[in-house]
Amino acid sequence: MQIVNVKLPISLAEADALKPNDVPAHVEFRNVTKMYGAVAAVRDLSLTVGRGEFVTILGPSGSGKTTALMLLAGFVAPTQGDILIGGNSVAAVPSYRRDQGIVFQSYALFPHLTVGKNLEFPLEMRGIKAAERLPRVNRMLERVHLEDFGDRMPSQLSGGQQQRIALARALIADPPFLLLDEPLGALDRKLREQMQIEMKSLHQEFGITTICVTHDQEEALTLSDRIIVMRAGQIEQTDTPEALYDRPATAFVANFLGEANILDIHDFKVKSTVESQPGTVPMIRPERISIAALTDQKETDAEKRQYVTGRIKEMIYAGPLRKYHVRVGSGVLIVREHVATGQKVFKPGEEVRLDWLRSDVRFVAI
Ligand code: ADP
Ligand code: MG
Repeated sequence: MQIVNVKLPISLAEADALKPNDVPAHVEFRNVTKMYGAVAAVRDLSLTVGRGEFVTILGPSGSGKTTALMLLAGFVAPTQGDILIGGNSVAAVPSYRRDQGIVFQSYALFPHLTVGKNLEFPLEMRGIKAAERLPRVNRMLERVHLEDFGDRMPSQLSGGQQQRIALARALIADPPFLLLDEPLGALDRKLREQMQIEMKSLHQEFGITTICVTHDQEEALTLSDRIIVMRAGQIEQTDTPEALYDRPATAFVANFLGEANILDIHDFKVKSTVESQPGTVPMIRPERISIAALTDQKETDAEKRQYVTGRIKEMIYAGPLRKYHVRVGSGVLIVREHVATGQKVFKPGEEVRLDWLRSDVRFVAI
């Protein structure tokens, strides 16, 4: 993980003075392009991040996420376009002036310094007096629930504890915003989930504008006020986690954020409550489909639902969830259900009836 703190070229008070009645967007990209030779790592990127927002840039490897973060931190310069922080362009700020305002902190804690000294470091760099540093370090240790760990060396901490100290170190000097690049990528699943909850509560407590880069959809869904999905250097779609998941605009977003059944490939006419637009295909999420034995169920609500028959191809058990691959015509639909007491379990080869609400069908661009 890399944690980068960025100090504004102007103070928040100054930014407020510029726009007294308006909370300025903290961060704005205006048509930013970054070329590496013939490759556009980021292409015509425009976005704003509001004060206090937790925004995640989500996308596959190579989609330009890290480049966007590095542009914002000032470590690389845009080929075209402008970046504004607190309403002011930073593109024209010479690098020597920007360097003064930027503190770069790598994920790794200083191995030869105690946890306490690691936390003191950013304060020392800002010229904060020794007498003021210690109480701040102790307060910060309390906030990340590691108050008894100040005298330990980083090697005496677990991975999760090191991660919390890294976050604490990034936050201790009160930066106006926090940039996180794949912050939890190195942790195992359970720890990752704990840290997600912890990061969220830290964000709520500090109210700090946070821009997090990840390829992990679960992380993005859990943490963010808003997700920016990137694809090949461009924004594919941006919205709240729930809206993105429920109403993906494109097949790419539908597939990247969870699993999607694109119904286009199946040999039945899809019934839906909305008109399809040209260039779109119908899509339904696996958890919106119900599964039943052919003999078990009578069709009800026929005008609201759609019924199809199929044959189980595979059953995949995953703890609380059970997933079926069901052959329907020439295609395969994925059905996901929560495991429940008394539920019928279907075996490969069995014939089943699938049904879903017509209003759960979405149309996504291809
Ligand atoms: P992500 O973080 O989403 O994986 P990056 O921003 O690292 O993506 O990279 C986006 C694209 O830009 C990739 O095609 C990558 O190869 C290219 N790229 C990134 N940094 C450099 C660089 N320093 N020199 C040349 N190409 C680069
Ligand atoms: Mg990256």
